[in-house]
Amino acid sequence: MSEPRSKIFISACLLGRPVRYDGKGKRLDHPAIARWQAEGRLVGFCPEQAGGMPTPRPPAEIEDGMSGADVTAGRARVVEITGGDVTLQFLEGGRKAVEFARAQGCAYALLIDGSPSCGSGFIYDGSFAGRRHVGNGVTAALMQDAGIAVFSDREIEALVARLDTETAA
Ligand code: SF4
Repeated sequence: MSEPRSKIFISACLLGRPVRYDGKGKRLDHPAIARWQAEGRLVGFCPEQAGGMPTPRPPAEIEDGMSGADVTAGRARVVEITGGDVTLQFLEGGRKAVEFARAQGCAYALLIDGSPSCGSGFIYDGSFAGRRHVGNGVTAALMQDAGIAVFSDREIEALVARLDTETAA
């Protein structure tokens, strides 16, 4: 088997690991996941756990309709539904995720959408009323800043196509 050119960082919950705020996973069933796992190409990681947060934990959102990039710039906080400020834990988890991705040689990240950490297409607006808006989470913002190509779970076909191009190059 030829050596893979780069690995893929993946939100641990997409592998079914029970790391989400509610103590559950959210496995992504797709043939590419099984193939990449067999190739040893996927590395799972949970930024919120890495930031020191327990599981289960209260749900959290980025306040005031802001995004992960606002949090990394110091313009917004991440708050729990119970009122706790978990900004520092989210930043710490995101930094550790980028360090881990770099150490593993990941050029790509497949992240679950909607999360205040891992979201890359949409997140929730801080009202805890189920309202979405276009934006990214803290880890996704830091990954993008680090030059790692971020794909949401809804974009897995685009990642497959990107890797096919890489293989063909
Ligand atoms: S931080 Fe990311 S990997 Fe961890 S549970 Fe939330 S969405 Fe999944």
